[in-house]
Amino acid sequence: MQAFLEHHQHVRGYLLEGLRASLWLVLLTAVFVPLEWLFAVRPKKILRGSVLRDIGFYFISNFLPPFVLMLPLAAAAYVAYTFVPASWHETVESWPFWVRGLAAFVVADFGFYWGHRWAHELPFMWRFHALHHAPEHVYFLISARAHPIDNAFIRVCGLVPIYILGLGAPQSVQGTLVATLLMLAVTFWGFFIHANVRWRLGPLEWLLATPAFHLWHHTATEPQNRNFASMLPVWDRLFGTHYLPRGQWPAAYGINEPIPQTIVGQLLHPFLPPIKPRPEPQGEPAPQPSGPIAG
Ligand SMILES: [Zn+2]
Ligand SMILES: [Zn+2]
Repeated sequence: MQAFLEHHQHVRGYLLEGLRASLWLVLLTAVFVPLEWLFAVRPKKILRGSVLRDIGFYFISNFLPPFVLMLPLAAAAYVAYTFVPASWHETVESWPFWVRGLAAFVVADFGFYWGHRWAHELPFMWRFHALHHAPEHVYFLISARAHPIDNAFIRVCGLVPIYILGLGAPQSVQGTLVATLLMLAVTFWGFFIHANVRWRLGPLEWLLATPAFHLWHHTATEPQNRNFASMLPVWDRLFGTHYLPRGQWPAAYGINEPIPQTIVGQLLHPFLPPIKPRPEPQGEPAPQPSGPIAG
């Protein structure tokens, strides 16, 4: 009976999670479909075959990464309690809510920058991250089109430092709230910076990542490997990876390596040997392979 009740609780939890994710999807669609229709960088039919796959990835991104994240985050909490002096935790807990929130935001964003950059620079992590860069049309839902391992890796890089420094969960209820609000803001902004909208946001572009900033991250042509920040472009300026020309947009998006078509194929792709590109027709020069850090 106990086991049945526990099972029942789990099923209820999944259903609620599914409902929450579905409501978010409705909200995001209501916000971004009209914006992309009105202000497209390049107009594209909203309903394409690949949209269903992107929605599939949207749900996978909601369900799987939390499981992958559990172990590293539990380890971070352990390190926080074991190695970080209690006086540090007391100091941090005495800070006003907004100071703690702001510190968590900056530290996490610094971690996301490096996590994302490593996803490009380490060939093993690029295997997972390539999936995010494969689409030749970038629009809001591409934000969720990521391999769960890639997704979890980048989140770990941002969340572990805030947990170790006691800036986020799970030390206190307030800490949990900080981490939740932070993830909500970063998640929403993630959809925004992938939106196919041609807005330029003036001085705000100095402060925050914008669609123009991140669409350049997806460029299929040079300069590639720019604009890794999720929220604060200052990291790219500091570490020499910033690129945001005035009035220009990438000519094309995508990567120069074959990726399977189905969701299952795409999830398994990083674990399998690379697919051989189709042979080029005779008489035409073969395109130069761009290596593991392209995209
Ligand atoms: Zn990337
Ligand atoms: Zn992206």
